[in-house]
Amino acid sequence: MRYYIPDIKLASELPQQKKFQEKLGGIPWGLSEKEWPKCKECHKSQSLLAQFLHHPERMDLGKEGRVLNIFMCNQNVGGCSSWDAESGANACFVTESEEMQKGLSTIPADNPPIEKEARITKWKEKEDKISEKDAKAFYNDKYYDLEEEKISKVSSITRLGGVPSWIQTPADAPARAIFIGQLSTHYNFFKAPKEINKIPEPQPPEIPQKTKKRSIVRKLFSFFRRSKKSKTAPTPMPAYDPNAIYEHKKVVDGCTHYTEGPNFGDCGMGYIFIKKSKGKPKGYFFWQCS
Ligand SMILES: [Zn+2]
Repeated sequence: MRYYIPDIKLASELPQQKKFQEKLGGIPWGLSEKEWPKCKECHKSQSLLAQFLHHPERMDLGKEGRVLNIFMCNQNVGGCSSWDAESGANACFVTESEEMQKGLSTIPADNPPIEKEARITKWKEKEDKISEKDAKAFYNDKYYDLEEEKISKVSSITRLGGVPSWIQTPADAPARAIFIGQLSTHYNFFKAPKEINKIPEPQPPEIPQKTKKRSIVRKLFSFFRRSKKSKTAPTPMPAYDPNAIYEHKKVVDGCTHYTEGPNFGDCGMGYIFIKKSKGKPKGYFFWQCS
């Protein structure tokens, strides 16, 4: 199946937004005060996760100019059920082009945290080699019968199209809704952003390899030495910096670098579904973590 990976640039590297642009995070474009969603649990304003534009192949919203807006509550992390599609602690809705206002939306008075902003400059088309028949199994119990080799072909980064890369169960998929994309907890880059404090991916401390066989005498000697000396302190892990750009150990779907994105729990993934109807399609968003 075909899928599309966004080629993103951090907003901090770009001029100020002057027109609608697809993006991850930041301040939403074109929404009125009334349209900025409030969390049904804590009643505070939610944070924008993404704005995507209708595209007949990449994301079919049924009409030119329609925008899909995805939000979640960040005001009470762990408290509000932003992972649940039915909780009202997230929002996924379509805006018609004629409903879009000009300019960035006004930030509500309760100051929702603003997610790091990355704008989508173009999309890269890819193929996962999952057949139409196998794709159907990603939405029901047949998923558990799929060979690991097939599941491993599924891209686990932010994208539109394809099938979901489930962290937990396909049972969370809303009935009769169509999967249209997923949001990773990381923003991935095809090329390292310019502005950076680039640092390598955090690694666990290296375990020294024994290279030579030691004689029994030396083993005894080192045993006595160890018993006298206290153990050396373990090497601390480098501190995790949410604004740093990390280099992938291995290139992921063509992406070489990443930075932290939205908080979907531990190694989480957000899933976007729509249900088509006569008017605007209805959107669903939920996330899973390990
Ligand atoms: Zn809330």
